[in-house]
Amino acid sequence: MPLPHVAPATLAIMGTPDRFPVRRIFCVGQNYADHAREMGSDPDRQKPFFFTKPADAVVDGGTVLPFPARTADLHHEVELVVALSGGGTDIPVADAAGLIFGYAAGLDLTRRDLQAEAKKAGRPWDMAKGFDRSAPIGPLTPGIPPASGRISLTINGDPRQSGTLDQMIWNVPEIIAELSTYVDLRPGDLIFTGTPAGVGPILRGDRLEAMVEGAAPLLVAFAG
Ligand code: MN
Repeated sequence: MPLPHVAPATLAIMGTPDRFPVRRIFCVGQNYADHAREMGSDPDRQKPFFFTKPADAVVDGGTVLPFPARTADLHHEVELVVALSGGGTDIPVADAAGLIFGYAAGLDLTRRDLQAEAKKAGRPWDMAKGFDRSAPIGPLTPGIPPASGRISLTINGDPRQSGTLDQMIWNVPEIIAELSTYVDLRPGDLIFTGTPAGVGPILRGDRLEAMVEGAAPLLVAFAG
């Protein structure tokens, strides 16, 4: 039997035809206080926590995506995504920025109805968070992401999410350092760093524009 050919998951990079190889996708939950509150949590008492998506959940922007199956409540979460070119375990906060290849605007697409069911039953979030094409990401801008600046999302031109990167409860170096106490971070790993307030539903036919300071805009449309 011939072995199957499995194409690696990759991301576009600004200014080059080269593609960034994606190894794993980690995500931070509730890393902006206003979003933690809108999800019913107390941001002052809960540390940010981590979940994952499969590497091949990544998808380029600038395309029309099929509307995901098995949901009547697909939600948008605009996020700063960082891509690592280095790694390690127990990384000191002071060393974390040196491991970053680049950053981009991303969408942590969420089947909120399935997530709510999972939370209620104490079950895993994988089918709510890690489905096919659940991680649209714009082209990577090489370099360190800004510590402040705007993060926002519009749907069909209407403002839906707006915040600033300095509203993160844990900043990017702190996230990398903390995550590296759970896993051995490696080149190719991506980290979604949390979403500001204003998450809400996406409808069939909607056109989303995700913006993160310093990164290329991410445009995603859903089939009608
Ligand atoms: Mn998220």
